[in-house]
Amino acid sequence: MAEQVISPDLGFVKDIIAGGGESLKKCFQCATCSVVCNLAPDDKPFPRKEMIYAQWGLKDKLLPNPDIWLCHQCSDCTVYCPRGAKPGEVLNAVRKLAIEHYSVPNFLAKAVGKKQHLAFLFAIPTVLFLLILASLGHLNPLNVPRNEAGQISFAKFLPSLYIDGVFVPVAIFAVVCFAIGISRYWKDMKRLAGPVNKGNIWSTIIATIWEILEHKRFEKCNVTKNRKIAHFLVFYSFIGLAITTAWAVLYLYGPGIMKLFGAEPFSWMLGESPYPLTDPLKWLANASALVLLIGISLVIRDRLKNKEKVGSGGYYDWLFITIVFLVMATGILAQLFRLADIAVLAYLIYFTHLVVVFFLFAYAPFSKMAHMVYRATAMIFAKHIERES
Ligand code: SF4
Ligand code: SF4
Repeated sequence: MAEQVISPDLGFVKDIIAGGGESLKKCFQCATCSVVCNLAPDDKPFPRKEMIYAQWGLKDKLLPNPDIWLCHQCSDCTVYCPRGAKPGEVLNAVRKLAIEHYSVPNFLAKAVGKKQHLAFLFAIPTVLFLLILASLGHLNPLNVPRNEAGQISFAKFLPSLYIDGVFVPVAIFAVVCFAIGISRYWKDMKRLAGPVNKGNIWSTIIATIWEILEHKRFEKCNVTKNRKIAHFLVFYSFIGLAITTAWAVLYLYGPGIMKLFGAEPFSWMLGESPYPLTDPLKWLANASALVLLIGISLVIRDRLKNKEKVGSGGYYDWLFITIVFLVMATGILAQLFRLADIAVLAYLIYFTHLVVVFFLFAYAPFSKMAHMVYRATAMIFAKHIERES
């Protein structure tokens, strides 16, 4: 048998422990976790092998390993582990390090993962929006002009030109960072897997998207069965809010574009907000916000309820949950205070909403939100190399 040289990375072990995998060293390799995991493939199942890689600091075997993402953190393994080694939490910490490892620019990924940089991350959008408001003379919410109907108008407070001037580059930045991170991860997975059978990439992409939309894998979890409902609601509320945003862009720019081509704009393209509560766009926006409220509340409730059994996650998980909660809460409250005609509170909360939305999207490639993209990529790869059917 050929001799294998193993070079442990002790710094990596420390990083896993700091990221929430503090129970790692308790594992004595009994393999109960791999037996109870309903999501692991029969051939070389996880998470026992990942536990030993993590104990030995085998970074090169762990980070490009698609199995760390095939795990959906249902925590069955954690509950049945006779040593309390919490493999579900260890894999969660490894996933955080994988996002950090593949992300570009790396300093931002490191900053998102550490509490001490939180103020800096919030300062960027806060200062940016304050400078824009100062240039418009809108730092005092009572000086903001109302619209023609005499209503509070967020479009008057911060005109769409400025909003788009910030969020379009933010979206481009996030997409480029995701693309770089994912292509680095894909190359590394290929390197680790070596020469393998390869299925049709397009059919695997379609099958994976369909599987994600159905949320089927969560049904295989036993201990945290409710995660499917919470995750499902949050996932579809995001889709609803994305459609709302695209719809609002159509309302805002549709009439101008149609006029440019000599056509008469459709009467349903309402132009600048605020839109009446009876408009279908508002129905979808408010329904999505309500679904998000229920979904994220269930996520928080389940995590707190299962804290003793499976752990509640670390700073990285709670940062993402808190930001999603704030996006939802500030969105709903800004609308309520606008409708109640309380300008100071409406504008203050809308300002906070913009800051947290910036946080959510600008740092998405480095935060827990990136799990959507990395997990989908790993699922596609696993099907592609026929590790999964
Ligand atoms: S994590 Fe627990 S269940 Fe899994 S191999 Fe280690 S001791 Fe056994
Ligand atoms: S957390 Fe769930 S999916 Fe992940 S390894 Fe453990 S049992 Fe399997």
